[in-house]
Amino acid sequence: MSPETAATAAYIVAALLTVMSLAGLSKHETARNGVVYGIAGMTVALVATVVLAANSLEAGAVALMVAGFVIGGGVGLWRARVVEMTGMPELIALLHSFVGLAAVLVGWNGYLEVEAVGAAQTTVAPELLGIHSVEVGVGVFIGAVTFTGSIVAYGKLSGRMKSRPLTLPGKNALNLSALVAFAALTVAFVLAPSLGVMIAITAVALALGWHLVASIGGGDMPVVVSMLNSYSGWAAAASGFLLNNTLLIVTGALVGSSGAYLSYVMCQAMNRSFLSVIAGGFGVESGTAAADVEGEHREVQADEVAEMLREASSVVITPGYGMAVAQAQYPVADLTRKLRDKGVEVRFGIHPVAGRLPGHMNVLLAEAKVPYDIVLEMDEINDDLASTSVVLVIGANDTVNPAAMDDPGSPIAGMPVLRVWEAKNVVVFKRSMAVGYAGVQNPLFFRENTSMIFGDAKKRVEDILTAL
Ligand code: NDP
Repeated sequence: MSPETAATAAYIVAALLTVMSLAGLSKHETARNGVVYGIAGMTVALVATVVLAANSLEAGAVALMVAGFVIGGGVGLWRARVVEMTGMPELIALLHSFVGLAAVLVGWNGYLEVEAVGAAQTTVAPELLGIHSVEVGVGVFIGAVTFTGSIVAYGKLSGRMKSRPLTLPGKNALNLSALVAFAALTVAFVLAPSLGVMIAITAVALALGWHLVASIGGGDMPVVVSMLNSYSGWAAAASGFLLNNTLLIVTGALVGSSGAYLSYVMCQAMNRSFLSVIAGGFGVESGTAAADVEGEHREVQADEVAEMLREASSVVITPGYGMAVAQAQYPVADLTRKLRDKGVEVRFGIHPVAGRLPGHMNVLLAEAKVPYDIVLEMDEINDDLASTSVVLVIGANDTVNPAAMDDPGSPIAGMPVLRVWEAKNVVVFKRSMAVGYAGVQNPLFFRENTSMIFGDAKKRVEDILTAL
């Protein structure tokens, strides 16, 4: 068997493993297997690539490639080991930016190898040159949009940039003109490839990616993260066409389409229009002028909350980003066990965008061994909240904000929320009266049946456990 045939066979196996990985990741029970299939698929693909290269390239080039794998793999392993669960979304955003950058470099390499040297000196057949130029233009465009878009997402998620949406005048017109400019430049590039047009395509795409994500407000970032995931897939697929690599095309298309589907599901969960997400800046038309909320809040101490829980017949816990920051899932799991032993019905209500990445809360609760069957989704628990004795809001804010339903001017207007205020008593765990990720004040804190318990969520839950 020739090395090419062996590599093609290995690529098919790797592609199948990617499909199995995605299928496994779709359920809690099979997620671990999904990860193992993914790792196996990547390993097969990497080994096949090196073996194939070793057959056709000089030793120096192969050594460079292996060095790249070792350095890249080493940095990846190190970062993945040290990253906190709360830092995961920004790490993912940063990784998406690498895929985008790689696609831009592959596109530029395609240009330098083919269009820049002229038809006579390349292996591309003259009748296919036009197609090659389209591939270069599209690959560079998708890659560059993904690159700067992901950098901005990284900045916003890590708090290095303000999460407030940028609202340039005529922002939709700006996005549209960037698309029109890209189409025109690509036509120009196909007709007469030149360095100037390449630079123009890259610059337009870099600016568009930046603007698309900068225009999106904090509360709508979950959709952006999954949208960039999708874009990174398409960027990889575009590189696959240029490199004539079927594995990249297949896996890129899988990531692109599953990311697009995830964005669609997230849009539905957040009541946003899918099309306006793709167009960028969709959070803005709902306005940024949320009414200022004022009022008195009531502070309670751990022993009072313990007393409330002792008398409760049903408790619902709605965790949010603060539970992840405090690593409060372990005492929360202990509290759950203790209350259940006392005969109190305890359930969890998980908002689809609680925390900083899809499934964030589910992962933390599974880590602390909270049984799956008491962890319910927002839609499964919302109608039961009115008959619940106590809701414990642990480090959640935007996902329990009544302004999303009551205040059409709020930046999170229309986003479905956990209706915790319908319960008999609500206890909110947080450190201060500060706003949540979307930057809007929460009228829940000033409701009559709401009490605030201030301090680090882990410590406060431990205090309640002691008091119980
Ligand atoms: P929020 O980010 O709205 O609020 C978290 C709250 O936790 C803050 O108000 C903070 O208040 C509190 N907190 C922080 N640290 C601690 C601590 N150590 N102990 C106690 N409390 C703490 O959380 P939600 O989960 O309700 O909402 C998620 C938000 O993130 C949404 O706006 C969502 O759109 C966005 N988002 C979600 C993504 C996803 O995929 N899930 C991705 C990107 C963004 P204080 O500072 O006073 O303690």
